[in-house]
Amino acid sequence: MSDATIEPRSVLITGGNRGIGRAIAEEFVRRGDRVTVTSRSGKGGPEGALTVPAEVTDGESLDAAIKAAEDAHGPIEVLVANAGVTDDQLLLRMSDDSFETVLDTNLSGSFRVVKRVIKSMMRKKKGRIVLVGSVVGLYGSPGQVNYAASKSGLVGIARAITRELGSRGITANVIAPGYVDTEMTAALADEVQAGYKKAIPAGRFAAPEEIARVAAFIASDDAAYISGAVIPVDGGLGMGH
Ligand code: NDP
Repeated sequence: MSDATIEPRSVLITGGNRGIGRAIAEEFVRRGDRVTVTSRSGKGGPEGALTVPAEVTDGESLDAAIKAAEDAHGPIEVLVANAGVTDDQLLLRMSDDSFETVLDTNLSGSFRVVKRVIKSMMRKKKGRIVLVGSVVGLYGSPGQVNYAASKSGLVGIARAITRELGSRGITANVIAPGYVDTEMTAALADEVQAGYKKAIPAGRFAAPEEIARVAAFIASDDAAYISGAVIPVDGGLGMGH
């Protein structure tokens, strides 16, 4: 069976210049879609994709990014809201600012971009919203009250969209990766990484490509009957979403 996309679609991926977002972009390009990625610099996306600048905390910047994507590739049919940050601190030391910034980027940033692409999906009666959450959203993690709150909020977004727009050919799902080999996890101390690996039944972190292939499936026609789901890609770490 070929996994080439039958009809190329206009795909937008936020934060597609590195890490998981980049691997997702490469996978969609490989399958033949018309891919736009955002990065804050407007540079650095993979070959075969258009890279446009966007800051997800800024609605005007997203308006411009989506216009550039649609001018080049047509109305967005698949959105992967992937851009995200961590700012870990134990609760006692976590500042209001840290909490608000992580929420504004990961949760409100995803809302802003979803809100801006949904109208054309409704018109077309077809669309795929893929939100990149985290195992931490439902499992929790010390030092990540801000991050966990932002990622569990994405589940609410996906489920509310599913109830609002499920009859219009639109699906909305959360992919919940466990620990993935990217710059985000490279920033963790070696002993912290080793501790996580012990707790993961698979005994290792994921490669970004392992998340990308699941994103591509969730965005495919074959996944038309999956919506409002939290799809773990975590080597068994979370179990029980
Ligand atoms: P990276 O730190 O490697 O990349 C983060 C991406 O998000 C970059 O493209 C970055 O753009 C973009 N970004 C960050 N803040 C903003 C912002 N304010 N506006 C626009 N773009 C922004 O992260 P990962 O690839 O590891 O993570 C990608 C997603 O996967 C995140 O949502 C993360 O929470 C989630 N995740 C990651 C896991 C992991 O183990 N790595 C595990 C579970 C979930 P720029 O390069 O321009 O800064």
